[in-house]
Amino acid sequence: MGITCGSHFVQMGNIMLESLKLTTREFHKENTIVEVGGVRIGGDEPVIIAGPCAVESYEQMIKTALAARKAGAKLLRGGAYKPRTSPYDFQGLGKEGLRILSKVKKESGMPVVSEILEVADLPLFEDIDILQVGSRNMQNTALLKALGRQNKPVLLKNGVASSYEEWLAAAEYIMDEGNSNVILCERGIRTFETYTRNTLDIAAVPIMKKLSHLPIIVDPSHGTGWRDLVKPMALASLAAGADGIMLEMHCNPEEALSDGLQSLDISEFEELMSKIRR
Ligand code: PEP
Ligand code: MN
Repeated sequence: MGITCGSHFVQMGNIMLESLKLTTREFHKENTIVEVGGVRIGGDEPVIIAGPCAVESYEQMIKTALAARKAGAKLLRGGAYKPRTSPYDFQGLGKEGLRILSKVKKESGMPVVSEILEVADLPLFEDIDILQVGSRNMQNTALLKALGRQNKPVLLKNGVASSYEEWLAAAEYIMDEGNSNVILCERGIRTFETYTRNTLDIAAVPIMKKLSHLPIIVDPSHGTGWRDLVKPMALASLAAGADGIMLEMHCNPEEALSDGLQSLDISEFEELMSKIRR
């Protein structure tokens, strides 16, 4: 896939590698392993990240965290700041949500992943272990640069209509500022199909493995939008070589304030985990 034309024009597929010096394998051969709270992402074991779309209450989070941990999840997710499509939808608990995450992290011992929307919020995320950049912010260069100037791992989702090259360029923004702890997360793309919420691009896994040394995980919840599709797509993603899965799980999906239709309940999550182990 790598073609060298002259001394400074390098192409792989249709990706220009010249300006992707930090993210591509061309310039950094070994796999990058991101370590957080004793968990290794990009190592031999796939890592499962589970939790609700949004932090709704302490009771919801502790119940979900303990069930997720018991079933084998290594990290807990939960959004305190939610970038919802409609301004009238639940926007997250904000600072209170982060306080809940911090308490649940202490009590469960699970490192937490949460989405950051604004550079100015960075000090509030002191207790958050992995900072998520959502699909809508993949090309927010001010945010990417700010996350590059601190050293917590960044989970970078692909934009709904971004190319692999643009996705890697976004990771390059973070790394260029000095932070090499970047985890890619495939979360589905926008296609002509309307049956599913997004089209999960599982090919992104082997493609990114080939192009980049960064770990890549898959989010089958946003990638499909439907609970029933999460299990098969999670298994397919791991079969394709993903370093992990991040999925939405809720102790009571019917009552979820966001993304209930794509959230597994506790027993569905346990079932998936036993399939993954097998
Ligand atoms: C999320 O993880 O809840 C989220 C908003 O994801 P995305 O950016 O992929 O839409
Ligand atoms: Mn969600």
